[in-house]
Amino acid sequence: MTDENCIFCKIINGDIPSYKVYEDDVVLAFLDISQTTPGHTLVIPKKHVPDIFHLSSDDAAQIFARVPKIANAIKASNPDIKGMNILNNNGEVAYQSVFHAHIHLVPRYSSQDGFQIKFSDNEKDYNDDDYQKIQAKIKKAFK
Ligand code: 5GP
Ligand code: ZN
Repeated sequence: MTDENCIFCKIINGDIPSYKVYEDDVVLAFLDISQTTPGHTLVIPKKHVPDIFHLSSDDAAQIFARVPKIANAIKASNPDIKGMNILNNNGEVAYQSVFHAHIHLVPRYSSQDGFQIKFSDNEKDYNDDDYQKIQAKIKKAFK
């Protein structure tokens, strides 16, 4: 349930201080120290789980169920918030740096507020066969 070497478990246990904005039996929400934009908040399960790949469907349902009300509270806290990016990084290659699963809630103020994300469009490199091969592999991999 708790990993003694995990910085977020230490935050949950109160061993490291944090600016908590919401807490219940399932999750803790607190300000990300980096404040990519003002109000940048992390939602973490109280149970230590390294990433999405280790999360049960039941735990995921409980955790994600909390996100809309936390997102709405952040939005309501500041009239300048126009939108919000919600993201979850898994694995070092995907920019995960703390290996206790967490969801970033990044309020958005403008296109130049300090948050950037890039989705490359590679559609021109794919034909019907390519899409079907990828589709078949993923469908086959379900357990
Ligand atoms: P990741 O890069 O794993 O998706 O996100 C980890 C986040 O945790 C980073 O945005 C980083 O700023 C934040 N973080 C790391 N250490 C601490 C800490 O001690 N306190 C708080 N509040 N945030 C932290
Ligand atoms: Zn942990």
